Amino acid sequence: MTNKTAFVTGASRGIGLACARSLAEAGARVVLGARDAAKLEQAASGIPNATWVEIDLASPDSIKQAFAKAGRIDILVNNAGITKDGLALRMKKDDWDTVLATNLTGAFLAIQQVLQGMLKERWGRIINISSIVGEAGNPGQANYVASKSGLIGLTKSIAQEVGSRNITVNAVAPGFIETDMTASLSAELKESMIGHTPLRRFGKPEDVAAAVRFLASDEASFITGHVLDVNGGMYM
Ligand code: NAP
Repeated sequence: MTNKTAFVTGASRGIGLACARSLAEAGARVVLGARDAAKLEQAASGIPNATWVEIDLASPDSIKQAFAKAGRIDILVNNAGITKDGLALRMKKDDWDTVLATNLTGAFLAIQQVLQGMLKERWGRIINISSIVGEAGNPGQANYVASKSGLIGLTKSIAQEVGSRNITVNAVAPGFIETDMTASLSAELKESMIGHTPLRRFGKPEDVAAAVRFLASDEASFITGHVLDVNGGMYM
């Protein structure tokens, strides 16, 4: 991936940080994006050839400014994501809107920022981090699941729009991965999830990063519109 620049959203910790590290190891110059500048600075300092830029995926203006600062991007990893869980009957519209704006609209707007450059270059890789629940559904997460299913539809549609220009668009659908996002789940729920996972363990951010790195590589040049499950077999 030498001479390629990758932008990873939500790269200050968890899966995004692991993706940034892995793409840098593969030779890419990496731009880390998230909201918290101090955490970004710390994360980027440990990665060779990395810079960082503040970005709020819930804000169209912030997305424009961040990509203007970052310059031309060859590889976009749409990883930033949030949850605001609750049963649909009682879900506040604000919680629906914020999750959809960040996880789905933010990813779409980021894609719009990088497409022109990729079309001109006739090379590009877009990788959207969806989720196992975007494929299977999950009670209590209607907003999050809708955003993650939406990312799969977005992936397949844009893959068809830009395939003729040698740009691939794929999704990765992680199962349960040990990060801040899943840290607060109860021990009981974790036990039960392991019980439903054929590989009998939780995933690590590096498991997801390996899939992202592969999809970004030249070896994956004939793969587009695909959803790659990284879930220990929990959903197949
Ligand atoms: P995490 O540990 O909570 O990290 C989330 C990252 O996104 C942070 O860097 C955070 O930084 C950034 N972020 C959050 N809101 C943002 C916003 N509005 N604008 C820009 N950046 C924002 O999450 P994770 O577990 O690594 O998850 C990463 C992705 O994988 C998410 O899309 C998640 O839905 C997906 N996923 C995770 C799992 C899992 O089990 N962990 C499973 C399936 C899918 P700031 O707060 O500083 O902005």
